[in-house]
Amino acid sequence: MPEEPCIFCRIARGDIPCAKIYEDDAVLAFLDLAPVHPGHALVIPKVHYANLLEFPSELAPAVFSALKKVGAAVMEATGASAFNVMQNNGLAAGQTVFHIHWHIIPRFDGDGLAMWPQGGYATPADMQDMAARVISHLKK
Ligand code: 5GP
Ligand code: ZN
Repeated sequence: MPEEPCIFCRIARGDIPCAKIYEDDAVLAFLDLAPVHPGHALVIPKVHYANLLEFPSELAPAVFSALKKVGAAVMEATGASAFNVMQNNGLAAGQTVFHIHWHIIPRFDGDGLAMWPQGGYATPADMQDMAARVISHLKK
């Protein structure tokens, strides 16, 4: 349990209402109260983990199963032609609720939402250097 009251723990316990879509032993899905588009849903583990680094990989199958079920249902319910799955880790990445969650965002042709701008590496060697630096920090 987190030290501070966590809004998503309270939702998972049923202390705060939500527009619930899906639930199993480990996972809950409900609508985001400030949707990018109506139907925007959140999938959370019922147990509190702050972010992906804390999240146990053993729970990944349950989360991915829910993401597929809820993603398909949101597409059909909204008439979306596509959807994004998004998961933010840390303030600088846009995380505002520090109980891990995955966004399911229905998308429509020409809906005008832009992804972030992309850049490049100055040289192919810079790219290889970055790959080597990341590899040197990989944990077993
Ligand atoms: P983050 O920015 O942390 O990736 O996303 C947090 C999301 O949780 C936001 O999209 C926000 O609208 C949603 N949210 C925050 N508080 C509540 C709440 O009490 N109920 C629901 N349904 N969504 C919430
Ligand atoms: Zn929590």
